[in-house]
Amino acid sequence: MPRAFASSRALAAEELSDTPLRWPRPSRLEVELELPGKRMAAGMQALGVSTVGDLLEHLPSDSREARTLATLRAGEQATVAVEVRSIVARPVRRRGMRPLVEARVADATGTMRATFFNQPWLVDRYPPGTRLLLHGKTDARGGFSVAHHALGGEAAAPQPGAGEGQAVAHYPAADGVTSTQILTLVQGVRDALEDVVEALPASIRVGERLPGRASALAAMHFPRHPEDPEGGRRRLAFEELLLSQLVFLRRRAGRRARTGAAVLGERDALGGRWLEHGLPFELTGDQRRAIEQIAGDLERGAPMQRLLMGDVGSGKTVVALYAMLQAVGHGCQAALMAPTETLAEQHFATIQGLLGGELVTAELLTGSTPAARRRGILGKLSSGELSLIVGTHALIEPDVAFDALAVAVIDEQHRFGVRQRAALEGSLAEPALAEASSAEPPAAGRTLDRAARSGRTVPHTLHMTATPIPRTLALARYGDLDTSTLRELPRGRQPIDTQLVCGDEERAQAYAQLRAELAAGRQAYVVCPLVEEVEDGESSELGVRAAKAELVRLREGELAGHELELLHGGMKAREKQRAMAAFASGQAQVLVATTVIEVGIDVPNATAMLVENAERFGLSQLHQLRGRVGRGEHRSRCLLVASSGEAGSGRLAALVRHADGFRLAEIDLAMRKEGELAGTRQSGLGYFHIARLPEDAQLLERARSCAEAILAADPELCSPEHVLLGLAVERLHGGQAPTPIPA
Ligand code: ADP
Ligand code: MG
Repeated sequence: MPRAFASSRALAAEELSDTPLRWPRPSRLEVELELPGKRMAAGMQALGVSTVGDLLEHLPSDSREARTLATLRAGEQATVAVEVRSIVARPVRRRGMRPLVEARVADATGTMRATFFNQPWLVDRYPPGTRLLLHGKTDARGGFSVAHHALGGEAAAPQPGAGEGQAVAHYPAADGVTSTQILTLVQGVRDALEDVVEALPASIRVGERLPGRASALAAMHFPRHPEDPEGGRRRLAFEELLLSQLVFLRRRAGRRARTGAAVLGERDALGGRWLEHGLPFELTGDQRRAIEQIAGDLERGAPMQRLLMGDVGSGKTVVALYAMLQAVGHGCQAALMAPTETLAEQHFATIQGLLGGELVTAELLTGSTPAARRRGILGKLSSGELSLIVGTHALIEPDVAFDALAVAVIDEQHRFGVRQRAALEGSLAEPALAEASSAEPPAAGRTLDRAARSGRTVPHTLHMTATPIPRTLALARYGDLDTSTLRELPRGRQPIDTQLVCGDEERAQAYAQLRAELAAGRQAYVVCPLVEEVEDGESSELGVRAAKAELVRLREGELAGHELELLHGGMKAREKQRAMAAFASGQAQVLVATTVIEVGIDVPNATAMLVENAERFGLSQLHQLRGRVGRGEHRSRCLLVASSGEAGSGRLAALVRHADGFRLAEIDLAMRKEGELAGTRQSGLGYFHIARLPEDAQLLERARSCAEAILAADPELCSPEHVLLGLAVERLHGGQAPTPIPA
């Protein structure tokens, strides 16, 4: 029962209906736009804009600076903000054409004649005194042909004495509707800004010094100062980032609250014992810390969701094996899934080596496991006889069932295909959560664990990646995962001597270095960007080396007399295995390959790598490639061959200077351009419309800590100051619907 202000007196119905309406009235944002013409309607539909609110949220992609008339040069395209002084229609001689409209327009710096084609009605629409934004081209005689035009409104009026032109919003357009037309439409709904709901609590706005939502939108659509659009964008970006972090953190909290996992609480169960006695080396500090964190996760009874990042060779497998052995030690099962057969085989070999004398039943299951053997393995998995399994996505086939899977390790999750990943996330990661919050039961056989199907427990999950992700991106992408990082390399690792090679002379020296390694009994990789030479010699591919041709050339030329093998992704699995076996056994001394060697090859005796056309690879990728050498006791070298222009670029120099993958990932990120980031956006790097990474990294950090503080005080977002925020979270991310862990 509503009561009168500052009293306990109940308000009568008439009194209530007489109450003056207050802003905002968000329902008015739901009103459908009225658009002139079908073409424009179709265009706006293509842009996803159908209501007033949509239009206000259709943000400018940038702002063009309106030019002053005095600075226009003949033949130039420009946007100007002007006032109409006089306007007339003139008949055109050619038949079928509508009269021209000519206007004399002015700003603070001068006047000019503007011509509008084919729109005689403008004479009535733009009477003298009207302020306009015109986009078009100047002609040789000082006239201006108008391509798009819009009412300029007050904000667009030239500031007398300002000298410079002002910012004019420029919108993503579509067939049937131009940026300038969109601006006109936005001007038409400007009053609706008062109906925009402010979701950010005042305390945060004040603390972060951010404008209100409506002001931010106004600053973007109708900038008065050059810095307005960016100021507005940052405010909206902050909100977007805050909402995403709230979603991540609530998802994590929800997972912990709603789903259970095996309590692996005895620290000196198998895993702990094995660490004490079974290891042939001492753990690095980072490994010890990661294991400590994992031990904490495993004993909590809520499913672990941890991301373990560490450079190649940093010793992730040891850490993962600890978690797996803790499961086994508590009478449960553990699985490790790798994206390729080679990697799965290697993990299996590493694990068997590391297990030493421990009596643990372990098997390998991949696509090439023979049917009979596979049947046997599946039987033992479902009976619980088999404790530890390593494999590829063969592990998530519908007929694979575990008796009691408690720990699942997923290596290089981002290398799995989209469909496999979905299965994986649905099965390994959060089956019970999916079940708890969706009406439909999970597809039969989709889950790895019978217990999980019943919705009671899910496996602890450890995601491993050798691609170091700077903290910013980790937050944006894996904000609901806990992270552990192995920065420190095991003791005794020698840094890899990295050199840039340009020009024929240096190339000749590089081959001499390779030959010296081979003569000393070591082995070498030669990496090429392409498998085969491009036949019709597309210019962009000129001078790019191909593995097949290099193999032939080197056999006859610089590396004559040595055993060379070829390895590339197009080869049949059996051929690949044979080539790798030949190299691993030392029978072949040189492996000429594409980037397929980036993952999965571990030959400690290989001490040299020569990368052709290094400029064509990403920084992180080169770092991964380089990690194929320096894995043994001998000092290793990496020779980056690049065209001289590219060699001077900072990217390759960074690789020479830094050995730390995290440092390189940060440099890589900082050097990436907008376009490249757009590409990574598609691959799930972040799903932001307004925020930009890495530029908004600091904003993201602040959004994260705000989100943490908000949820610490009000986990359900139900206190009055957070209700609107909670609604915004729900609107933006579909409420409780569990989205798969982005990878
Ligand atoms: P990653 O998976 O991170 O590339 P691995 O776990 O495969 O690294 O470890 C690489 C090699 O280093 C393995 O042979 C492993 O046994 C060894 N190793 C791991 N940790 C240490 C350590 N602390 N000291 C010495 N060697 C280690
Ligand atoms: Mg490994």
